[in-house]
Amino acid sequence: MNFSKLGLNKELLTAIEKANYIDPYPIQIEAIPAILDHQDILGIAPTGSGKTASYILPILQILQGKKENRSRNIPVLVLVPTRELASQVAQVAENFSRYLKRRVKTVAVFGGVSINPQMMKMNGTDILVATPGRLLDLLSKNSLSLSEVEVLVLDEMDKVLNMGFREEVNQILSDLSKKRQNILFSATMDEALEKIITSLLNNPKRISVKPAEVEVDLIEQYAYRVSPEKKGPLLRYIINSGDWSQILVFTSSIRTANNVVNKLVKNGIDAIAFHGDKSQGARTEALDKFKSGKTRVLVATDLAGRGIDIQFLPLVINFELPRSPKDYVHRIGRTGRAGATGEAISLITEEDLHHFKIIQKKMKKHIQLRSSDDFDL
Ligand code: AMP
Repeated sequence: MNFSKLGLNKELLTAIEKANYIDPYPIQIEAIPAILDHQDILGIAPTGSGKTASYILPILQILQGKKENRSRNIPVLVLVPTRELASQVAQVAENFSRYLKRRVKTVAVFGGVSINPQMMKMNGTDILVATPGRLLDLLSKNSLSLSEVEVLVLDEMDKVLNMGFREEVNQILSDLSKKRQNILFSATMDEALEKIITSLLNNPKRISVKPAEVEVDLIEQYAYRVSPEKKGPLLRYIINSGDWSQILVFTSSIRTANNVVNKLVKNGIDAIAFHGDKSQGARTEALDKFKSGKTRVLVATDLAGRGIDIQFLPLVINFELPRSPKDYVHRIGRTGRAGATGEAISLITEEDLHHFKIIQKKMKKHIQLRSSDDFDL
């Protein structure tokens, strides 16, 4: 299957090609034509399935048929649970908008940052990507109107509900125009969700996909035996020994992440920390610097690391092992995406040995444990 068979225009196809997407993912094959056909969608799909592009691409095309927006009436609303997802979705939309004839304005709004700049941006917004709380704040200040929303997307709806946003969502839904297209994505399905779906979606097309398989076999995995006090020097040695364009280092705590960054910077290696103790602004800035290649090393905790969406990451280093084997696969999975080959290196101390064996057993894969004794640390 080819992207050109899905009914997308040539400007979008150019942007898709520039994004290095070769073939559409299963969810895109099903969702894109249906959304272009103005159907409601119920997608059971986790992150990693390609769900973002599956709704953003057809929405951008639908907007091409509309007059430029000069008001504060929002035609497309995307509700998301977190700031990270809001920024990511907006970025995907901007990325795919680059060659379009009719300019599309996408704005992401979320809490934790000042509201005034967001209020100023509402005029002429085509796609508003918002977390529920901040959207209500903006509505209460009359910064925008949802009475003419034509397409509503509820992304990661299970997470929205798990985070306790049910009231907010109901309030927002009551502000929306009645005649609109609804698109809902959720990684899981349960009774509460089923209820919302029956009242919200109109004869939806149901699409269900599994998470894109992490291509573990494409990833070259190995580990170094090291004493706890030599971990820092070994990390620097590894970073300096190759020409990886980007390196993502994982630690298990915020404190270690900060310590590792301090040590790296002291030793002349440009590194930046990414974790929950940082303000939203600082996190966005860190990620931008890393993505654009200005900073080569990003040091993240598991929780914060989930929000990082980067294709073709060449190297992941586990400065510390994650607690669960699932997290291990999640961490290293960033290097084996979309057929790209990457490396994953774990630093293993005596104390880690047992846990390291369990991870390998669960993953059903042997990871070579190398000595670091010969390195001049
Ligand atoms: P998502 O599930 O939307 O978070 O997407 C997961 C990752 O897959 C993102 O890094 C996307 O850029 C990437 N992606 C989505 N669709 C494709 C595709 N057709 N080909 C290659 N990569 C894709």
